[in-house]
Amino acid sequence: MRIAILGATGSIGTQALEVVRELRRRGEDIEVVALAAGRRVERLCRAAREFGVRAVAVLGPEEAREARALLPPSVEVLHGQAGLEELATRPGVEVVLNAVVGAAGLRATLAALSAGKRVALANKESLVIGGHLVMERVRSPDQLIPVDSEHSALWQALRGIPGDEVERLWITASGGAFRDRSPEELERVTPAEALAHPTWSMGPRITVDSATLVNKAFEVIEAHWLFSMPYGKIGVLLHPQSIVHGAVELVDGNWIAVLSTPDMRIPIKYALTCPRHLPPAPRAFSLVGKRLEFGEIPKGKYPAFETVLEAGIAGGTAPAVANAADEELVAAFLAGRIPFTAIAAGLSHVLSRHEPVPSPGLEEIRVADAWARAEAHRWMAQRFGPTIGRERRADGSDDG
Ligand code: NDP
Ligand code: MG
Repeated sequence: MRIAILGATGSIGTQALEVVRELRRRGEDIEVVALAAGRRVERLCRAAREFGVRAVAVLGPEEAREARALLPPSVEVLHGQAGLEELATRPGVEVVLNAVVGAAGLRATLAALSAGKRVALANKESLVIGGHLVMERVRSPDQLIPVDSEHSALWQALRGIPGDEVERLWITASGGAFRDRSPEELERVTPAEALAHPTWSMGPRITVDSATLVNKAFEVIEAHWLFSMPYGKIGVLLHPQSIVHGAVELVDGNWIAVLSTPDMRIPIKYALTCPRHLPPAPRAFSLVGKRLEFGEIPKGKYPAFETVLEAGIAGGTAPAVANAADEELVAAFLAGRIPFTAIAAGLSHVLSRHEPVPSPGLEEIRVADAWARAEAHRWMAQRFGPTIGRERRADGSDDG
């Protein structure tokens, strides 16, 4: 199997390379033929040399120059959206693992599916902002395999179950880094605290999204599209241990749940080798002595979750607006420019000003995305003063 990994320098991308290394050590026929990333060129080129890939793609022309200097002349170096799409569609690539973060991943997912590639999808934003466009390109049930742990669980639990026997899908949420904080404390939490997730180790954006539970609202939208399930039949359970990832409730009262230690290498490997489950388990795991607790998402505690879920249900361009505004707000929070609680407030503001366009095409999604980013910045500038747009240190002092 020949694969291309997009977003190869990130949390998922790096773990995917680990998975491939292990599969190759065990004699599996798997080869990495193309790698893409954004700005971390050195890291990308190191992996490109290790796996002997034939082509790489990076963010822009400057990164491409840097990559050319680090790679043998036989390796093709591409850049930009066109570069990502070229890697996702080139002959010889059978499976595309899309682990790019953010809206930037959508076009590559669409291109890979249209070219008939199998897509292992970590980039949940593809489904959040363009679910209808993605699903209309899927030609066979196994062409699009989720990497997200909850959806990987549902995927496995649903295998062989006819749609009319499913009562409800359940995904779990750990509750994120601030599960036990009071609203007053949330005003003062720092980026470093937000990045310390209790159970998973992930990239910065999704870690903050896990603290606001925006990630969980995205995952409900993701499940809606992947499994053609109405929103009223997708539930979220607070489950601090992150051991049960997803469960299918059947019409006869049976439940099928998928459990594992929280380690993304498990769903990444399954997305690559599905329907086969291949050894090894990345670490020893036993249920002995484990306590598994489940609760409801407390109303009012995660306002961003409720706002983004409403955007998903509204549909059209609303989820693209939610995603774009969230990308900007999270980046501003991580840069120390706005408090944590402003993420939810900013999302609510931007979405309240948006009139969703139904069944949007790529161009309408692009316009909504750009508008949402600009509106988020206007709101932040108005709310947090003229230092917005300039670098501020996390302690609030101005870089000047
Ligand atoms: P990271 O931030 O760790 O990595 C993101 C990757 O995307 C990096 O390789 C980055 O390159 C690349 N990238 C960003 N923008 C562009 C662009 N414009 N063009 C090309 N490459 C780009 O994120 P994660 O690995 O955590 O997440 C990746 C995706 O997987 C997200 O959609 C996330 O929601 C999803 N996911 C992640 C999970 C996790 O455990 N991490 C779990 C479930 C889903 P560079 O760094 O070189 O700039
Ligand atoms: Mg998840």
